[in-house]
Amino acid sequence: MSTALSPTPTAVVFDLGKVLLDFDYGIVARRLAAHSGRDAEQIRGLLDQSPLLFRFESGQMTNDEFFREVSALTAYTGAFDEFADIFGDIFTAIHPMIDLHAQLRARGVPTFIFSNTNDLAVRHIRANFPFFAQFTDYIYSHEAGAMKPDHRIYELVERRTGRRGAELLYLDDRKENVDAGHARGWRVVHHQTPEQTIAAVRAAGLL
Ligand SMILES: [Mg+2]
Repeated sequence: MSTALSPTPTAVVFDLGKVLLDFDYGIVARRLAAHSGRDAEQIRGLLDQSPLLFRFESGQMTNDEFFREVSALTAYTGAFDEFADIFGDIFTAIHPMIDLHAQLRARGVPTFIFSNTNDLAVRHIRANFPFFAQFTDYIYSHEAGAMKPDHRIYELVERRTGRRGAELLYLDDRKENVDAGHARGWRVVHHQTPEQTIAAVRAAGLL
């Protein structure tokens, strides 16, 4: 990637988890464990990066199906609404990155959320994090029926943004995800710290 010769991107694509919001499935595991027959580490193993979560986040299960399956696997005895509250409440703000997003919006730069996620998480985030309403559009795995780094969801980003190649600047903390964007000619930042990412956005000419 040449920074000197590349044109300035015209939109920024943000991953959500570990970029704008930190998350910890240990929190939900401990809270579900208090209402179930399993210990928190077992429950965490059922959720965090698990085949079950993959099915949920790739749109193969409804909220109710996910709830029923987690309840059956963990002997969780609470109701759906309580489960939804517990399951969604795992996020904390990464303020320097939320500030970066606000600066881009103030400059009129279109911004997009591009996330492997699920409907319970999105509902919780919408209700609790006002910054989340400020993006131009949202591309979610559970709606797309494909997860990053599957090329189909990158194609959907290109359609929804109306942009391709170096017109897009993409920020994600997972190497396999940024590699898939880079392979399409997107400009990419492998997010590790807010300081490095903000410097990269500035170097791209957007700040
Ligand atoms: Mg992430």
